[in-house]
Amino acid sequence: MSILTFSPTSSEKDLRLAILECGRICYQNRLMVSNDGNLSVRLDSKRVLITASGVCKGRMEADDLLILDLNGNVIESHDNSRPSSETPMHLEVYKQRPDVRAVIHAHPVFATALTVAGQDFPDDILPEVALTLGKIPITAYATPSSQHDADAIRPLIRDHDAIILRQHGSLTVGRDLDEALIHLERLEHVAEVFWRAQMLGNVQRIPPGELKRLSGL
Ligand SMILES: [Zn+2]
Repeated sequence: MSILTFSPTSSEKDLRLAILECGRICYQNRLMVSNDGNLSVRLDSKRVLITASGVCKGRMEADDLLILDLNGNVIESHDNSRPSSETPMHLEVYKQRPDVRAVIHAHPVFATALTVAGQDFPDDILPEVALTLGKIPITAYATPSSQHDADAIRPLIRDHDAIILRQHGSLTVGRDLDEALIHLERLEHVAEVFWRAQMLGNVQRIPPGELKRLSGL
């Protein structure tokens, strides 16, 4: 089983390795470029392991992770590294969702481009979206790397495992990093299919009745 599929009893060492591996996958698949994006996992009821600020997620080492409490206080860090600038958004998820053990904030190109173009997310073109994520909301524009992102997701995260941050990126959550990454990959896949279908000139939508049937399965 992939190291991204962890459980509440997994060791801190395995969780660190899982974040490094997930960061590599996100970077290699261009879901995060440059030093964008951030990842975190829940260590226990009071602590979170999160990526440091300013590091490329494709080339991280174990020391590029910090341990925080749920108020954002640093419990453990190396070389005076600072926690991700999106820490408030990650903590907002863990406070609202006791079922969530992993959070990925990425900058997927096609999903982000949709919001730059002012378009809605096409959650009615592929059946697998209705079967899994359902409606994928887009937040209002919020200043990145600030409390504003936490504010933007606050009304949405209780009911959604995938959210698009307008003109910024994505937020996906799961019981482990594998599930959060599956949500992220699906979201970006749909956005890319939509873009290519628009290039071909005609986008067929799934009829509302069928969408309702799929979401009830
Ligand atoms: Zn970002």
